[in-house]
Amino acid sequence: MKCKVITNVIIFTVNEKDEIIKNGTVIIRDGKIEKVGKKEEIIIPQDADEIIDGGNQTALLPGLIDTHNHSSLMRGVVENQRMVEWLPVYDLEHRACVEEDAYHAARLCYLECLKNGTTTIMDMYRFMHRSAEAAGELGIRLHMAPYAADVPPYTFFDTTETNEALIRSHHMTQNGRIRVWMGLEDLFYCSEQMYKAAVRCRKEYGVGIHTHGCEQMEEEQTVRKRFGKSTIEVLEERGILGEHTLLAHCVWIGDEDIKKMAATGTSLAHCPTSAAKLGCGVARTPLMRREGVNVSIGSDGPIDNNGMDLFWEMKFGSLIQKATHCDALVFSAKEMLRMATINGARALNMEDEIGSIEAGKSADLILVDCARPNLQPVYWDGDDTNLLWNLVFSANGSNVDTVMVQGEILVKGGKAVRVSEREIIEMASRQGKDWMRRRKMHEKYITKPIG
Ligand SMILES: [Zn+2]
Repeated sequence: MKCKVITNVIIFTVNEKDEIIKNGTVIIRDGKIEKVGKKEEIIIPQDADEIIDGGNQTALLPGLIDTHNHSSLMRGVVENQRMVEWLPVYDLEHRACVEEDAYHAARLCYLECLKNGTTTIMDMYRFMHRSAEAAGELGIRLHMAPYAADVPPYTFFDTTETNEALIRSHHMTQNGRIRVWMGLEDLFYCSEQMYKAAVRCRKEYGVGIHTHGCEQMEEEQTVRKRFGKSTIEVLEERGILGEHTLLAHCVWIGDEDIKKMAATGTSLAHCPTSAAKLGCGVARTPLMRREGVNVSIGSDGPIDNNGMDLFWEMKFGSLIQKATHCDALVFSAKEMLRMATINGARALNMEDEIGSIEAGKSADLILVDCARPNLQPVYWDGDDTNLLWNLVFSANGSNVDTVMVQGEILVKGGKAVRVSEREIIEMASRQGKDWMRRRKMHEKYITKPIG
């Protein structure tokens, strides 16, 4: 039996009461949290084989959960374009993509995520058996929703068949760290048959469905023209909405559609930076929260966002709402931390396993070094502290010192322990240059924007 102890830390439990424990101790046994509480109330077990002492200068948080990502090596490559024009250019990387590209993209992206305190990632990409291999090297928890499409000319994406095969070969492997979903690009890329197949696989294998929707105005207008109804109505008709479905974006969504998402328990992967960068607009997340939609946070990956730091995403996701509503009360630090942790766990149907620091859950935890200029000073007023605000509005991924998944330390002193970061970076750079060269050969095939 393996036993780890983390003590002298400020614990942000993100439990139902959002309890903060000023000087806390956590006991981890066999990868699970056994006890959480005040230091004086918890006896350190005799058989503890590792004690991590935070020196009361360290915050302990649940690992952050990125619920929408596309691993890629095309950072900074498609810029200054609105989503509808951006998408056909983005597709070039997929036209050229071979499995070695997907592998090196996954390694680089997961390394970045892990170092920034993300312990679970939902990745929609290609050749995902290689993404699983990359995740296995790093130790990160990975949900895979293959980028699948079948409407010509988008047949260079994955298929329902490869998606189903991936479920059979990879779902719940690596001690449950790998989970497979049914992935669908969107209503323009996927035929009705693909949606039917996704519903069938959800029933047959008990897996979730992940897809995009309502990202940009022209896209939603074209859906209405083509289908005579909104994206959410089409998805409802096709049996997609429900507790096992996670929708990315939903910026252009009406009041009735928001109610439908809430009533069916459909979760949102909200990507505030990506929506801003691609000129999509500002999602109506305060209303969605009020209506009861589970709102989680996604980075959308390096090509949509340029960075994958959920500390940034929490801050920006709050600020953009405060700015557009002219209301400083919208989205507190507490609410943003919930979005990046427990709401993400719920979106991935893992709220009983991860997303908060509570006994019985997996020890997916991060230690943030608070003895840094951007996180000081720290004040206390009873159990209340400004540190919560400092973590959400002042911290960044480079403040993360230690990252663990299932109690296994994957990042220590800010460095990945299982892999050579240098080797990953060098190989990604080499592969990326070759991919860029091959990608260029497809430029003549760029399709027209939707709308
Ligand atoms: Zn996406």
